[in-house]
Amino acid sequence: MTYKNFTVQTDADGVALVTWDMTDRSMNVFTEEVMGEIDAMIDELARDAAVKGVIITSGKKGSFTGGADLKMLRGMFDGYEKKLEADRGGAVEELFARAGEMGRIWRKLETSGKPFVAAINGTCMGGGFELALACHARVASASAKMGLPEVKVGIFPGAGGTQRVPRMTDTQSALQMLLQGQTLSADKAKRMKLIDEVVADDGDLVGKAKDMLKAGLSAVKPWDEKGFKLPSGPVYSPAGAQVWPAVASLYRKETADNYPGARAIVKCVYEGLLVPMDTALKIEQRYFAQVLQTTEAAMMIRSLFVSMQALNKGARRPKDVPEQAIRKVGVLGAGFMGAGIAYVSAKAGLEVVLIDRDQEAADKGKAHSRTLMEGLVKKGRASAEETETVLSRITATPSYDALSDVDLVVEAVFEDRDVKADVTKKAAAVMKDGAIFASNTSTIPISTLAGAFPDTARFIGIHFFSPVDRMMLTEIILGEKTGDTALAVALDFVRAIKKTPIVVNDTRGFFANRCVLRYMSEAYDMLVEGVPAPMIENAAKFAGMPVGPLALNDETAVDLSQRIMKATIRDEGEDAVDPRHFKLVNAMVDGDGRLGRKAGKGFYDYPAKPAKKSLWPGLKEMFPQKKAEDVDFTELKQRFLVTMALEAARTMEEGVVTDPREADVGSILGFGYAPYTGGTISYIDGMGVKAFVALCEKLEAKHGERFAPTPLLREMASRGETFYTRFAPAEAA
Ligand code: NAD
Repeated sequence: MTYKNFTVQTDADGVALVTWDMTDRSMNVFTEEVMGEIDAMIDELARDAAVKGVIITSGKKGSFTGGADLKMLRGMFDGYEKKLEADRGGAVEELFARAGEMGRIWRKLETSGKPFVAAINGTCMGGGFELALACHARVASASAKMGLPEVKVGIFPGAGGTQRVPRMTDTQSALQMLLQGQTLSADKAKRMKLIDEVVADDGDLVGKAKDMLKAGLSAVKPWDEKGFKLPSGPVYSPAGAQVWPAVASLYRKETADNYPGARAIVKCVYEGLLVPMDTALKIEQRYFAQVLQTTEAAMMIRSLFVSMQALNKGARRPKDVPEQAIRKVGVLGAGFMGAGIAYVSAKAGLEVVLIDRDQEAADKGKAHSRTLMEGLVKKGRASAEETETVLSRITATPSYDALSDVDLVVEAVFEDRDVKADVTKKAAAVMKDGAIFASNTSTIPISTLAGAFPDTARFIGIHFFSPVDRMMLTEIILGEKTGDTALAVALDFVRAIKKTPIVVNDTRGFFANRCVLRYMSEAYDMLVEGVPAPMIENAAKFAGMPVGPLALNDETAVDLSQRIMKATIRDEGEDAVDPRHFKLVNAMVDGDGRLGRKAGKGFYDYPAKPAKKSLWPGLKEMFPQKKAEDVDFTELKQRFLVTMALEAARTMEEGVVTDPREADVGSILGFGYAPYTGGTISYIDGMGVKAFVALCEKLEAKHGERFAPTPLLREMASRGETFYTRFAPAEAA
């Protein structure tokens, strides 16, 4: 037996060791060739009388299949983005055929009559974990990570995952794992009974697997034996009656029923547990086919898998600038943002010079890294040594001389043009030739700040989101004169710190904040109309937003909204701000110091823990309240999604964002735009531009001009275009 991607060695005891090691790839992934080989190999192993049992492992250090979550899906989705536009049915059919094939082969392995053990030596996600679950036992290295993350891109594990997991672990844990796409540590997987043995990283994993075979591992799965009992008991039983009603409400609470993939998981588990395995697998397949055909799955796969990977790999990076090794960065301003930027940089292995006005302020910024690292240590996700290593990379100082050998400076001082100009000049005076200067400003145009730096080509914006350690998006802002090298360095830096970049052209609010302001502004409108505040917050959450607009406004601070309105009135005149909105924030801020969470009161009241925040009752007195039955709840949801999508469309029309993938990925990562839509632009493309324009017109008639479709949208609607065809990304993923 010889295979291209596998070696098979059978020892004297009749144990066949199958080692998966794709010579032409750094990771093992499922390709058609791999599937074909596994299929043939199972037949051969089953036929070979000398083989008593089989161990499947990987030849790649620290990885069974796929290096990171979802990597194994890549083969399936090669060219998916193009196919989706050209031939949606074809793209779906191909995905379905591959998943169906995988499910068939794993079942064949499971019923081959020979016992199989998966020796999981490292990361094992998606289809790879489904393969392991089909084996008759599993041993894993202590540091191996595993899981079925498919739901995160809009689908679900369709090769037996939804059936084997709830036959091995209790229904509640199984559903939680599947619905959240959890990544499990080896220990957690063992506690859930998904793994049989955990072996130390330097231990003998294969030896352990052999021991299990030698001890007489059964080649028949428990669920293929008569009298098999489900871990949580039958669905129709007193135990089942405890579990399932709770599942329904948990599912609604977590998903607002917006995700067909998640809905299908619940149905697969429920229906599948009523029948024998082979029928259950057919049920899973049927739902898989349905889910793949949904707009949600198509849009989520594209944005959250294909486009996100393309952007992370540098889709927008100028090709002819060689890779820039970034070793050391300077951060100016050790406040809220600067401290976070220093932390993520040091955590990624970069040397950091953290500067503030005096030593005390700089030290305070550095202390933020200690707090975050200690938090990780407490959770067992970092060691004390790692904490010291990360901290040792950060030099906190008021002295600009320390910037002489940095490759990049990120400025995060006060949002004040003069203060920024001052620190820019001081840094420029000592920075080495060719080093890049980036500002983290959130409101000041980059092109105007660039004037303080001697070489405007080396000046760029890198806009982080707070909290920096948790928010995965960065907006790279191109000033009028920003050069390719600055863009390349900024992208290389963002890649080094493992964030996802979008590249936008210079404009007030850039991309994300423009859209977010619309979200909060729409909530003000609803308040003014007398929509009860809880309905506003709930409508947003039911629409798929992670945080209601009023809660979000409390986080970003109500006085910041007031400042932005004042600045807009100053720059653009009284008419640029809705006077009712201005009155509302003035009343909140000036009247009662309701500045938001930081003040303990805003749209919500924030009592001392453990009490929970609650909406401020005073809102009811500010505006005559509508009765709940007089409010069109569906329309509230639409208003939120449409107003942000329209703003995103405007940014594309204005050339602020040039690639629809960036608007989509940026909107999900930057402000949590209802992920099931695939992002602001996919929301429009998903329903069709024509339908979107009609929806805008309906809302415009009722709520005013802010919903008027733009000229570009009308033109695209009349031509039957989508954003992804009209603004086709320069290169496929
Ligand atoms: P902050 O007030 O928490 O921090 C600013 C820091 O700059 C302070 O530590 C201050 O001592 C220091 N500083 C001021 N003048 C200085 C000088 N001359 N030399 C050296 N250090 C000086 O503010 P922040 O929230 O961290 O915001 C910093 C920048 O990041 C602003 O441009 C802001 O617009 C931008 N930003 C903020 C957020 C956010 O959510 N807060 C998000 C994105 C971008």
